[in-house]
Amino acid sequence: TREITLSDSPSGKLQTQNFALSTTPLAEPGDGELLIRLLYISIDAANRAWMQGRTYRDQVLPGTKMAGGALGQVVVSNHPGFKAGDLVEGDMGWCEHVVLPGDAVAKRTQRGPLTHLLSILGITGKTAYFGMLKIGAPKKGETVVVSAAAGAVGSVAGQLAKTHGARVVGIAGSDRKCQWLTDELGFDAAINYNKEPVVKALKQAAPDGVDVFFDNVGGDIFEGVLFRMNMRGRIVCCGAVSQYDTETPTHGPRGVPGLFVTKRLKIEGFIVSDFADQFAQAEAELAGFAAQSHIKVAEDIVEGLENAPQALVGLLGGENLGKRLVHVADP
Ligand code: NDP
Repeated sequence: TREITLSDSPSGKLQTQNFALSTTPLAEPGDGELLIRLLYISIDAANRAWMQGRTYRDQVLPGTKMAGGALGQVVVSNHPGFKAGDLVEGDMGWCEHVVLPGDAVAKRTQRGPLTHLLSILGITGKTAYFGMLKIGAPKKGETVVVSAAAGAVGSVAGQLAKTHGARVVGIAGSDRKCQWLTDELGFDAAINYNKEPVVKALKQAAPDGVDVFFDNVGGDIFEGVLFRMNMRGRIVCCGAVSQYDTETPTHGPRGVPGLFVTKRLKIEGFIVSDFADQFAQAEAELAGFAAQSHIKVAEDIVEGLENAPQALVGLLGGENLGKRLVHVADP
């Protein structure tokens, strides 16, 4: 079976040369283990952060299989909770087959298209759901700003805020993405951060100031929005993608802590697994939104395991619209 290893630690920007594709013999599953065939691999901005050091998970070390969330199908089960044919999700890494303890994966039930299990109904959709609805908690008529808005988490987060009656402004890296946000996803306005400073553009895009900022990016974009926050605004720290693909992270933003004091701001970070006990309810609600087209599910599918490195390098460069997945095999 084939797998992709991180061959060396990237210095500076990640490149496809940092990965190597190899063929290894297929292992036999032991007691309590499953042999799983991968169907889709989730390509996440966080994959790059895992190479930088320990985060909420162990570092991905050079010379080891590249880690990554995936959806697979059980081929052989030596675990009483699973049978051949079951769909399972977990950190299976970048490979075609894997042997894992049954306890290390979650059984999934198909609801709508298979890919939805990794996009709207996967970690992506749930991250947007809990970050936006439980932490940001926008009220009708409030202004919400989302960074990396045309990405996987951001595109869902913005649409969720719309379902709660907020005015939603997206920040993204190109005119094409901005147009997609307003024309296709129903955002009220969008800012191309590569064309104008965010702080300036927000004067027009968010004339009443910002009540909730759902931040995926950090850095200069964070600073720009911070200066437009309203009294008692809430900042949801979901991620910091501007700091992942580099060896030299930027200095912290200006306005900290002064603006937090004068504007009585609240800032809160979270990891989606904090809400694991509410996953079933979130999934049911997200499935409903998707089925009724209250949320448009955008997926960006790359073909073939061998293209996973380029898929991640491209995502960090802003190539993707919505959730990027690598298709490995059909069920
Ligand atoms: P996305 O699909 O959003 O892809 C990343 C996007 O980030 C790119 O498309 C690009 O779009 C943008 N980007 C890249 N570099 C920069 C930069 N320097 N400045 C501004 N934007 C940049 O990825 P994900 O949905 O996987 O991740 C989005 C965020 O969600 C990440 O920060 C991730 O860590 C976080 N996350 C957090 C979780 C949690 O539990 N807290 C769980 C899952 C994800 P553009 O063209 O607009 O620049």
